[in-house]
Formats: sequence, structure tokens, C-alpha cells
Amino acid sequence: MPRIAIIGGGISGLSAAFTLEEKRKSGTPVDYVLYEAAPRLGGVMVTDRADGCLIEAGPDSFLTEKPWAADLCRKIGLGDQLIGSNDADRKTYIVVKNKLVVMPDGLMFMVPTKILPTVLSPLFSMRTKMRMAAEWFHPPHKAEADETVAQMVERHYGSEMVDLLADPLLSGVYGGEATDLSVRAVLPRFADMESKHGSLGRAMLAARRKMASATKAPPRPLFSSLKDGMQQMVDAVVARLDPATLHTSSAVQSVIPQDNGWTVCAGYQTDQFDAVIIAAPTRAAAAVLESTDEDLARELAGINYSSSVTVTLGYDQNVRRSLPPGFGFLVPRSAGRRMLAATFVHNKFPHRAPDNRALVRCFLGGAHDEQVLTYSEEEIVQTVRDELRQIIGLNAEPLFVRVYKWKSAMAQYSVGHLERIQRIQALCKKLPGLALAGNGFNGIGVPDCVRSGAEAAAKILSEMGMWSAA
Ligand SMILES: Cc1cc2nc3c(=O)[nH]c(=O)nc-3n(C[C@H](O)[C@H](O)[C@H](O)COP(=O)(O)OP(=O)(O)OC[C@H]3O[C@@H](n4cnc5c(N)ncnc54)[C@H](O)[C@@H]3O)c2cc1C
Repeated sequence: MPRIAIIGGGISGLSAAFTLEEKRKSGTPVDYVLYEAAPRLGGVMVTDRADGCLIEAGPDSFLTEKPWAADLCRKIGLGDQLIGSNDADRKTYIVVKNKLVVMPDGLMFMVPTKILPTVLSPLFSMRTKMRMAAEWFHPPHKAEADETVAQMVERHYGSEMVDLLADPLLSGVYGGEATDLSVRAVLPRFADMESKHGSLGRAMLAARRKMASATKAPPRPLFSSLKDGMQQMVDAVVARLDPATLHTSSAVQSVIPQDNGWTVCAGYQTDQFDAVIIAAPTRAAAAVLESTDEDLARELAGINYSSSVTVTLGYDQNVRRSLPPGFGFLVPRSAGRRMLAATFVHNKFPHRAPDNRALVRCFLGGAHDEQVLTYSEEEIVQTVRDELRQIIGLNAEPLFVRVYKWKSAMAQYSVGHLERIQRIQALCKKLPGLALAGNGFNGIGVPDCVRSGAEAAAKILSEMGMWSAA
């Protein structure tokens, strides 16, 4: 029976294992072993609890628009556990001069689509408002080559928009910077809209109208999660896998093609497989492939990762009453703070905190502040508390605090990322029985990782002539 090794037990590797397990159960003769370096499965998806509150150490939700994570949840029996964000209370602030200024209604990502709220907003200077008006008349434009998000946004709306919105929004999603990330890789829709319509504002409005006339269904929540937190997804997938196939605390050192198959070395153990799925961060993938294909290893190692720190603070009902409404705030770099963003978790999702508790989750780190990872937990908490005091006047003593450090966890899709992916795919073609998955390639969010794992499993089974979509 063909044997497949999966390296990495984050959600990408688990999704690959689940796909193989489903095929196995439906009669496809296939066996697999999953290797995970850490003692637990799930990678950065970790849910904790304190004082009746649910704390997400890593991702807190996923975009509803991307179906693969919710589809997986339904397949593993969690359909009735899916919850949506409280979008009626959605309101996000930007920190300007130590004050919270609400993002105007009608902003889609960073594109203004409603004139009046944008004109009246104190967030933007008169100069930026004039740029927004002029943007409406931009002719279609196709950029010759890939460019940074900052370059594109600046061309449309000027540098203030990069500082106030593009950069903080990208910090939140990628832990990256607008001056580094590739438009084509992280905002392909924007590049498309610019080449067809010119104005991003007009393009966004046209897309919204088209969607509204195409569907009569009520709008879906922007973000989805699970009642018991993101780890519920990990636990439910793991419960459907054969425990004997799951090797935790087993870091793989190398995978080497041998005798029409692959030899996998983990610690003092070596084992033979017909195929290998590597679902680890690309730098780890590069290390295990180094002796197999230097060029492939170099390309994989060339994808940078940034680190992040999340700090969750729990407070009593007095603080809950005093905090502003809405989902939280973003901190532009010009504000000169260490914090990148804060979420008022008790407002964003149900099932996260009892009515008499407030839960504030803060983000630090990102591409321009790796140094924060070297700080002690006490120093990080002190920084966060100082900044919360200065930004929202939050002086109260927290009931509990949790700090989670994520070293090199967020892939950075820099300019030229898509060309690099093409080179990686071409190099992989020369290595039959090898598939790559994970957040380093075609999407950093949980749904894209779920999809990448499932596609890697499908690719391997197809090569073996054992794949049928049903
Ligand atoms: C703080 C934070 C917040 C986030 N928030 C969101 C969010 O709200 N929504 C969203 O959609 N996404 C979010 N993301 C992104 C998303 O969670 C991740 O991109 C995704 O979970 C990555 O899954 P993965 O399996 O590809 O990688 P990982 O979870 O990093 O798992 C990779 C696994 O490979 C293992 N490994 C590494 N080397 C080896 C080896 N040699 N042998 C064996 N195993 C190895 C590691 O131990 C790890 O467990 C967030 C990420 C972070 C860090």
C-alpha cells in the first residue's frame, strides 16, 4: 500500500492528513504518517482559557468569504459550532495623536466607497480628501511589473493613506509592511481592478452593486470562528485521524529521494515513503530539502517570515463599561507606538467573555519590530499597559494577562513572490512524489492553509493515479 509522509502538524498538514484519511476510509488503499516537531498538533492555532474567558493565542477567526475553513468544519461535524463576528457592532478606530478616530463608513479595506462619511471624517487631511475625489477619475492602468502595496496605494490616494490605513491593515493580516509586500501577491484584486477600471473606488462600488443584485441572501458575517475557539477545529480534525499515524515531538531533519520513493529522517529514525507532503514553514522546508535540491532549498529559504506577539488582558465589568464600542483599533507607525493593534474581543465575537468581563487582545512585533521577541513577558506586558493607558486611558489592573510569542510565523509575500512561487513549482516538477503546503505560498490565512493542505494531498494521490474529486 502506498505510504505518504506529512511534515508539519499545523492546520495545513492536518488538512492534508484529513484529506488522505477521508480517501482511506472510502476505500483508497493509502497510508500516511504525520511528523510534528512540537509536542502538540495545531501549530499556531492555540486556544486557552482564563477566568471564564476564551483566549486565542494565534488566529482568532477566518474570513467567511474564503470557504475552505468553514467547509472543513462542516465535514468534521462542527457546522453547528461556527459563529460569526458581531458585524452590527463593527467599528474600527485608528490612533491619531493618541486619540481614537473612527474609520469612516464605506471604507472597503482601504478604499473609500461612500463620499459623505469620507468627506466628513476627521481621519484624513484635506489634501488626502482631494486625492480621493481625483481618484474617482483615474483611467485604467496596468502596472508593467509587480510593485509594493505602498506604491500602488500612494499612486491612488497619497502617502497619508499608506500610513493611516494600508500599513496598519497589512500589519494586522501579514505582520508585514506596505513598503515591502507585493500587490500582486497580497491584493491581486486591487491590481485587477486598477487594470480594468482605473479607479479603485469605482471598481469597488461596481463589484458591490453586482454582488447585491446577484444575491438576495442576507449578508454573511465578515469573520467566522468556532464557539470553543480555533483549536476546536484542530481537535476535531485530530479526533478523526488514526492516533498511530501522528508522530509528535518528531522533528524531521531531511527528506531524500531514494529507490523511487523518499527516505524521511526524524531523530534517530528513518522510514521509507512513496511520497512526501511538506507542510512546515518554508525555512524549515528548505532545511529538510537542502541535500536533495539546493536550488529549491534556496528559493524556499528566500521567503521571509515575520514574528508576532499577542497579549490578552482580562478586566472586570467596570472596564467593560468604559471601553469604546467596536472591534478595536489599529496603530499607524507614525503614532510611534510598539503596539500594532488591539481587539476588543468581548465585542467582536460571542462566546468569548462573560458579560462581566472585558477582553483586550493586543498585537506587537511584525516585520519592523523583531526585537520585541527578545523582551521578557513582564517587559512586554508593561509596554502594552503603558500604551493602553496613553491611547485609551486604561489604567485598571488586569484580572489576568497571557502573552504568546510567535517566532517567524507569518510569511511575507514581498515583491516578486508570485514569480518565486512559479520557480518553486517548476523545481518541484522535477521531484515526483513531493508536494508543498502551508502559509508560505498562496495565502497566509487559515482558509488558504486548509486549501493548500488538501490540494497537496490531491496532487500526490493524482500522481499515484488514485485521485477522484468525489
Ligand atoms: C498571531 C497570529 C494571528 C493570526 N491571526 C489569523 C487570523 O485571525 N485569521 C487567519 O485566517 N489567519 C491568521 N493567522 C495566520 C494563520 O493562523 C497561519 O498562517 C496558519 O495557521 C499557518 O498554518 P500552517 O499549518 O501552515 O503553519 P503552522 O501553524 O506554523 O504549522 C507548521 C508546523 O510545522 C511544524 N514543523 C516545522 N518544522 C518541522 C520539522 N522539521 N519537522 C516536523 N514539523 C515541523 C511546526 O512545529 C508547526 O507546528 C495568524 C497567525 C498568527 C501567528
